[in-house]
Amino acid sequence: MSFKKLNIVEPILQALDKKGYTTPSPIQIKAIPLLLEGKDVIGIAQTGTGKTAAFAIPILQKLFEKYGVNKATTPKALILAPTRELVVQISESFETYGKFLNFKHLAVYGGVSIGTQIKNLKYGIDILIATPGRLMDLMNQGKVNLSNIEFLVLDEADRMLDMGFLKDIKKIASALPVERQSLFFSATMSNSIAALTMDFLKNPTRIDIMPEYTLIDKIEQCVFFVDYSQKNELLLDLMKQGRGMDRTLIFVGMKHKADKIVDVLISGGIKAEAIHSNKSQIQRVRALESFRSGKAKVLVATDIAARGIDIKNISHVINYDLPNEPENYIHRIGRTARAGADGIAYSFCCAADRNFLNQIERITKRKTPVAEHKWHSLDAKNAEGKDAKPVPRVQRGEGRPRSRSRNDNRGNVRRSSRGDTRGNGGHGRSRRSGGRERSGRIGGRSRSGNNSGRSRPRR
Ligand code: AMP
Repeated sequence: MSFKKLNIVEPILQALDKKGYTTPSPIQIKAIPLLLEGKDVIGIAQTGTGKTAAFAIPILQKLFEKYGVNKATTPKALILAPTRELVVQISESFETYGKFLNFKHLAVYGGVSIGTQIKNLKYGIDILIATPGRLMDLMNQGKVNLSNIEFLVLDEADRMLDMGFLKDIKKIASALPVERQSLFFSATMSNSIAALTMDFLKNPTRIDIMPEYTLIDKIEQCVFFVDYSQKNELLLDLMKQGRGMDRTLIFVGMKHKADKIVDVLISGGIKAEAIHSNKSQIQRVRALESFRSGKAKVLVATDIAARGIDIKNISHVINYDLPNEPENYIHRIGRTARAGADGIAYSFCCAADRNFLNQIERITKRKTPVAEHKWHSLDAKNAEGKDAKPVPRVQRGEGRPRSRSRNDNRGNVRRSSRGDTRGNGGHGRSRRSGGRERSGRIGGRSRSGNNSGRSRPRR
């Protein structure tokens, strides 16, 4: 299959050729013809599948076919995405694929001056890529005219809901013309996502793409069974061994833990940066640039902050904590092995992570090879039943955690702030307390002095 067979117009074909794309990805093969026909589409697909081009190419083509050489005025296409990083990446994709067309696009997001964005809107644009929060600010100030929107894309809709953007999205959609083509991309299809699609789309065609499942064959994976309290020692040891860990992305469950791991790495002489939703935009951009340029060898990130980030040549992904949703494991390790490269993924599994590992192995239908190392924990490897799970979070209003082990009685559990929860679509473990962080000191013995695999962090 070639892009030409998808009836892509010459100026876009040239841009794709220049970019070095020879074959459309599965989601592009499925979505582009439907979108060119004018259908509404729901794409169940994650970042890394080529979904941005799957919507950007047909939007550019339809604008080109309708407007030809055009003088930009008010936006005709609106793309909503959850984070600044994703908005910037989508905007770069429009730049790349639309290189030989003359449409103007603009990325708007919070954390930077709104004045410049207002000025750019005044000059006239065709394609607006926005985070919902900043777009609402612009709408409230009467600085953006959405009455001529013909295409609406909701990208990473599940993350936008997780981040609490539902109200904003509904308000934005109500300001758009009813006659429009709408596209909806989400990594998961929960009930709330399904309800949202009913509000936004007309007779949509659904496309399910999970190519990262095939991608994982290319990734060398192994699990390190380790007690929770020794994860830092293991991490430092691996980093110091070399192992070609030139660009390592570490995933953690909690944002404050990301900062602590950075401290541990820096104290071990390893330059590292963290990104999570408590960091300002400027800090996030700097951290990403430092990681991209190779100045920082390690980036420590939460799922939400790392979501959608396209960084080439990531040599290793480390799951410092295993994700509580097995799909997130696929998504995380898919950050390596991009664009045809191979990659390596290490997972640290303490007793409390054991069930998550079981779930991952169930959906990937393979056993993860076990790494030999000096902190190997039989307790972690053999954990079962309640020992194989994190301590449940405190129920609201309960005041104290329910006690199931010595580690349970530490109190002071607080809800994590929006944006960096473990985002499991409203299942019991989604909005985690900060408890897991406190259940064992980074790099040392747990506070209970219990360094066995039974030290079960709260999540
Ligand atoms: P996305 O899922 O849109 O974030 O895309 C993931 C990565 O795949 C990005 O680096 C894209 O530039 C790249 N990509 C998208 N489509 C293709 C294609 N047809 N051939 C090669 N690379 C692609």
